[in-house]
Amino acid sequence: MVGRDRRARRGGRFGELSLPLRNVRNQSRSLIRHMRVPLLAFLVLFLIRSLVAAVEKPFNFNETPGKLPKEVVPTEYAIRIVSNLDNFTFAGSETVKLNVRSPVRQLMLNGLELKIEAASVDGKELPLSAIKTDNEKELVTLTLPSELGVGDHALTLRFTGKINQQGQGLFYMPYQEQGSGARKVMLGTQFEATDARRFFPCWDEPAFRARFQLTVVVPENWLAVSNMPIEREQKIGGGKEVRFAPTPPMSSYLNVFVAGELDFIESQVGRTQIRVIATKGKAELGRYALEASVQILKYYNDYFGVPYPLPKLDQIALPGGFGGAMENWGGITYYESTLLFDPKSSSAETKQNIYEVLAHEMAHMWFGDLVTMAWWDNLWLNEGFASWMGSKCTAHFNPQWEVWLARELPRDPARRTGIAKEAAMQGDARSTTHPIQQRVATEAEANSAFDDITYKKGQSFLRMLESFLSEDIFRDGIRQYIDAHKYSNTTTADLWNALSDASNKSVGEIAAGWTEQPGFPVVNVKRKADGKVPLTQERFTVNFKNAPSLLWQIPLTYSVVGGIRATLLMTDKTAALENIPADRALKLNLNGAGNYRVEYDDPSWQLLLKSLPKLGVEDRVNLMSDAWALVQAGTAPVSLYFGLVEKLPASTDLAEREQMIDVLDFINRLLVGNPQHGKFQHYAQSLLRPTFETLGWEPKSGESPTVATLRGSLIGTLGDLSDPEIIDGCRVRFEKYLANPKSLLPDLRPAILAVVGRYADEKTWNKLHELGLKTTSIEEKQNYYNALTETTDPKLIKKTLPIAITDELPTSRAVFLVGRVGRNSGHPDLAWEFARKNMKALLGKIDAAGMNRYAPGLFTFFSDESRVAELKSYAKTNLPAPSVPDVTKAVDEIQFRAEFQKRFAIQLNAWIEKKNR
Ligand SMILES: [Zn+2]
Repeated sequence: MVGRDRRARRGGRFGELSLPLRNVRNQSRSLIRHMRVPLLAFLVLFLIRSLVAAVEKPFNFNETPGKLPKEVVPTEYAIRIVSNLDNFTFAGSETVKLNVRSPVRQLMLNGLELKIEAASVDGKELPLSAIKTDNEKELVTLTLPSELGVGDHALTLRFTGKINQQGQGLFYMPYQEQGSGARKVMLGTQFEATDARRFFPCWDEPAFRARFQLTVVVPENWLAVSNMPIEREQKIGGGKEVRFAPTPPMSSYLNVFVAGELDFIESQVGRTQIRVIATKGKAELGRYALEASVQILKYYNDYFGVPYPLPKLDQIALPGGFGGAMENWGGITYYESTLLFDPKSSSAETKQNIYEVLAHEMAHMWFGDLVTMAWWDNLWLNEGFASWMGSKCTAHFNPQWEVWLARELPRDPARRTGIAKEAAMQGDARSTTHPIQQRVATEAEANSAFDDITYKKGQSFLRMLESFLSEDIFRDGIRQYIDAHKYSNTTTADLWNALSDASNKSVGEIAAGWTEQPGFPVVNVKRKADGKVPLTQERFTVNFKNAPSLLWQIPLTYSVVGGIRATLLMTDKTAALENIPADRALKLNLNGAGNYRVEYDDPSWQLLLKSLPKLGVEDRVNLMSDAWALVQAGTAPVSLYFGLVEKLPASTDLAEREQMIDVLDFINRLLVGNPQHGKFQHYAQSLLRPTFETLGWEPKSGESPTVATLRGSLIGTLGDLSDPEIIDGCRVRFEKYLANPKSLLPDLRPAILAVVGRYADEKTWNKLHELGLKTTSIEEKQNYYNALTETTDPKLIKKTLPIAITDELPTSRAVFLVGRVGRNSGHPDLAWEFARKNMKALLGKIDAAGMNRYAPGLFTFFSDESRVAELKSYAKTNLPAPSVPDVTKAVDEIQFRAEFQKRFAIQLNAWIEKKNR
């Protein structure tokens, strides 16, 4: 799955995906390995093994966690669903072939908000009193009249259910038809993690693989889509009945059903039919996605060594319901703007976003669908891997995008976001973090597992591991793993075993510290005159006093600038590099590919500052990120970061400037209301202006696509920093755009509209709103409504907020409008006040994953410690227990911001004073 809407969370980010090296292939070959394994290391290895409790075992069905008893295993489902669009309900029936492994008196399966109207086993009807449904536990229990013996049996159920407004189970999406503008409605499903049970009663845990055959009744002019091709279609009273071919054995959460007045375009790779499906009139906008899908499928067929196993692959654009994309096997669903590309109005970032999401979801066809994690505690196997694989594939075909370097999935071009690895590391440094592999006991916990740690730390660790093992050996291990476990489930241990076999290295031991314990290390570098460089590692933390100390096996990479590159597996608390010339700069964590930070002593830092022009952009970005993290942690003054930034060579490298923009944007929002705010804005403008002067407003012929993206970012940020010339420039271009929409390039629209929205008077606000209402393009619509959330005028903020509870935006977008206001407007108080009063209506539009974190997320924009008590008391009376981790995270964030704001303002003042002297 990609990009569940997490916009209202810390820093407001809500994408996913990202990073490593631009040139992994050349990199790994040029590394010379220096393995130093002193005696002590063996002792430490032993210690680590005993510290990391209960190292995980390979997949074993009987020992897999879960609520459902393992005595009864479903093997085949035949499901028939008839939906009623007049009252948004459906009627269903199913026959499930069961394999009973030891005699039972009860059948227990999952069901939620379903009414079971009849049940029979082997043709014998059960009395209604034998059927018990428990909505709280999400279980259906059937008490049998007599013992059901070992062997094959058949369960038949009749049931009814609800068609939801939000993306949970079966849901409906109202939309405006392209061209005619007519109001239409279509159907779709979203089951991961635990919502297949809202569509049909089932053994809804990933280890219960079965074949699913779906039959649906839909209006005659509709196209119905599921995992497999249509097997039979016939007219019946009230529409047509469509039966799909049965799926191969798979997990229940991978089922899909989409239907509506749809169009498609198609292509073919070998024996696989590929289609892009969209609402009528929009299929042609899927041309780019179709071409990319063909390219990606060929790449994966080769990489995984097992060709894509289904006869067809559909990429389906949904005009609402949910925000991201979902890897249903053979029928991937996407929020429309992550799949459709309009060359006339879409930006270069949208194009890149589409490619990355496609590559992520298609990687799941193998990693997730063909081979599935046994239980949700191993969700990272799906998501960390798909994120890493998707980035690798995207980088392979699109080197110009600097994928590993670029900021995280730019789901929302108007907003600056952190770099993906950085996003994960920021969260992982806090007291509220958790290991990549975490215990998951309940459905709510399964839904909460979709977070930055699972996706981004998972990806980041795999990148580090691939670069350590080498690209070819890593791929060989993956091929072995896929082949050995196809049509089955796995745990992380199965992956490490395959990689250990391929590499002859104890991958499980290296990995344990990274996946089974929280946090990550910082490596301290101290130089000695004799060429010796002692290294020590300790846990890196932010706002986390007395953190338990931990130890990692760190696959270190380093080079003497301009000299050799080498690796060292640091297994102990201390290690040392030898023969490093005292007058040469030493850089650790080459290309920033490792998931650790480095703190240099002053002599090393000064040598690095002198060598900046000789370092690659990856290494410079890595130094900037580490310096900023040390400032946040309080172990370095702000002068470390700004001193570095001021020494950077002039450049228009996207990633380097984005790192600055990300930091400056964060501070700009943090200092709202602080007396130092104006001084800071001035200083920040002086840092960004030179790059903008070089780029100018207008694109130059032949410039790289990253330059267009950077130009937009600079305009947006300088506008936010109150740069008068930029604000005027945006207003002038907006006026021109109103007269002639072609006058403004798609790449600049999000930024310019956002700046116009930020400083809008009521007339301009109304104009933006009117444009948003009128357009049927989801991307354009989003640009206009995003602009409305920028306003800082309380009167206009109060006009923006109520839009969240209207039907103007698709549900998944509408509800996050409030979070955007909280983040952008400088008035998180108004956003929270509105949400508190309208919580019921807002939660009605959120999917399962978003529910727990919605309210706590709105508090993460506060820097005022008094809000901590308010959140705690709100949570106590209003939030369910599964919200606790998100409440704790929000509390930590408020406390961090409050403390950091004070410390930062004082240090910044001193830094600027010193410069002015
Ligand atoms: Zn995913």
